[in-house]
Amino acid sequence: SNRGNIIKGKPVADKISESLIKEVDELVNEGITPKLAIVRAGSRGDDLAYERGALKRCQNIGIDTEVFELPEDIAQEEYIDLLKKINNDKNIHGVLCFRPLPKQLDEKVIKYAICPEKDIDCFNPINFAKVVEGDKSGFPPCTAQAVLEILKFYEVELKGKKVTVLGRSNVVGKPAAMLLLAEHATVTICHSRTIDLPKVASDADILVAAVGKAKMATADFVKEGAVVVDVGINITEDGNLCGDVDTDGVIDKVSMITPVPAGVGSVTTSILAKHVVKACKLQNNR
Ligand code: NDP
Repeated sequence: SNRGNIIKGKPVADKISESLIKEVDELVNEGITPKLAIVRAGSRGDDLAYERGALKRCQNIGIDTEVFELPEDIAQEEYIDLLKKINNDKNIHGVLCFRPLPKQLDEKVIKYAICPEKDIDCFNPINFAKVVEGDKSGFPPCTAQAVLEILKFYEVELKGKKVTVLGRSNVVGKPAAMLLLAEHATVTICHSRTIDLPKVASDADILVAAVGKAKMATADFVKEGAVVVDVGINITEDGNLCGDVDTDGVIDKVSMITPVPAGVGSVTTSILAKHVVKACKLQNNR
């Protein structure tokens, strides 16, 4: 049917994993095992949940992992020293630093300390610049890339389409908008000061919601037949997860919508793994 299709992340993630398993196999045969380092200061619940998912995904694909768990009150110098050590470690190909960093750490300084070639989740502004330039040699933020991979997997035409992105954060909204722009979509970016959000959103053929406000995008945000990608992960009062889109309210209007959970979130760790393999190949001139 051309209405109300729930487009899940799992088939997208499975397809990515399947091709990564082959690529890793070839590398291992040449004596190279891709390796991801995770740097975590403290132990926030959502970091731990994401970490578990990332480790499991990497293990299934054959990527080595190492978690560097640091005290939440780690000094800036020590944090940077660890990044330098990782930068110089030939066996580590990708680094994920959990953000936001604890408050004593200066993100404006630390983000430059991670070498761009190992910066698989776009912490270093060099990689952000590449996203804006449309230079595919870098590493876009995994979640933003996941939005794109889902749309491509489900064969959603982007060229010439009107896309509205709700949210302009540096990790999701803004880079997702830039990736969509590179695919020749006509992109509008909304944020907390946007006037008449429902009007701007409902003008779009494709709506990407990344605001962090439970069920904010209601039926009046959605054009008939639109495709909706719901990036939001919110915890409701009863402890369940929900997105930024009121799925029940819009389901009869949309042509396709990603669910929460089991949507964008399930693709993000496959992109992370994909970036580790890409980094590994680049570092080994493959
Ligand atoms: P941020 O809080 O960093 O950014 C939220 C953005 O939404 C800001 O640009 C903000 O505008 C905008 N915004 C907030 N409230 C409103 C409003 N009422 N109307 C319009 N715009 C609004 O969040 P993130 O970008 O980090 O994350 C967004 C969502 O995606 C969250 O729910 C997060 O949990 C989820 N997420 C999901 C991931 C996944 O793997 N699926 C990974 C990462 C995040 P302004 O700039 O003006 O403040």
